[in-house]
Amino acid sequence: MAKIFCVANQKGGVGKTTTTVNLAAGLAQVGQRVLLIDLDPQGNATMGSGIDKRQLALTVYDVLLESASIMEAAVLSEKSGYHVVGANRELAGAEVELVELERRDQRLKKALAQVQDDFDFVLIDCPPSLSMLTLNGLCSAHGVIVPMQCEYFALEGLTDLVNTIKQVHANLNRDLKIIGLLRVMFDPRITLQQQVSEQLKAHFGDKVFNTVIPRNVRLAEAPSYGLPGVVFDPSAKGSQAFVEFARELVERIPTM
Ligand code: ATP
Ligand code: MG
Repeated sequence: MAKIFCVANQKGGVGKTTTTVNLAAGLAQVGQRVLLIDLDPQGNATMGSGIDKRQLALTVYDVLLESASIMEAAVLSEKSGYHVVGANRELAGAEVELVELERRDQRLKKALAQVQDDFDFVLIDCPPSLSMLTLNGLCSAHGVIVPMQCEYFALEGLTDLVNTIKQVHANLNRDLKIIGLLRVMFDPRITLQQQVSEQLKAHFGDKVFNTVIPRNVRLAEAPSYGLPGVVFDPSAKGSQAFVEFARELVERIPTM
């Protein structure tokens, strides 16, 4: 049965999409069958996987409105080795259209039930908000991976997300939990980042992943080539860290 994880943080630009595409590619490299779902109308995870969001006939929008199944909407990212259900601007409209519909927060969950034996991992890239789209992600997932930068307000920003996850757990999805916090864009030369990193470990214990993703320009360059960093430049420090993270995640699965 597929493990379904949301990559979420309501803060913008913290590295959610970079984490989703590189973790997907890393998991594919270690032999896992991976489906990436882009739940962000920006479509960055789609483009970053080498799929042109403007050319897509079917997207996650069609899945949410039940006019397509996951398998109908999924396309293979050939160079990266995983499947993608893409998104584009059309998805922004889903927010409004879903309001009218029954069980509007359970649409993705229902669609994913049909493919749970076809993949080992489903990774959902969430938009930077706690919207109906993110809620669909949280309702369908077993857990949340939270990428975060070790900055001054990092812990404060986590409170909203942790509360939302608690509420979804209590009311909508008993399975949901925080899988772990991933320190990203880390620069060990910055004392403050080391301090915040220590605070995170003190506060969240083993919920903090051992792997740390360094700040690495190759990871930032890769999307313009339509590739995850892991595929674009496998020897880059950031890419190696993401493959290591994929291994750490696979190792953690039996203990979850
Ligand atoms: P949004 O909230 O808009 O969806 P996001 O949380 O998905 O943003 P990303 O798009 O992954 O964040 O990253 C924001 C920016 O930081 C991008 O330009 C990305 O290339 C860059 N970036 C992410 N991770 C790293 C890293 N480890 N090293 C260097 N640059 C990075
Ligand atoms: Mg993003």
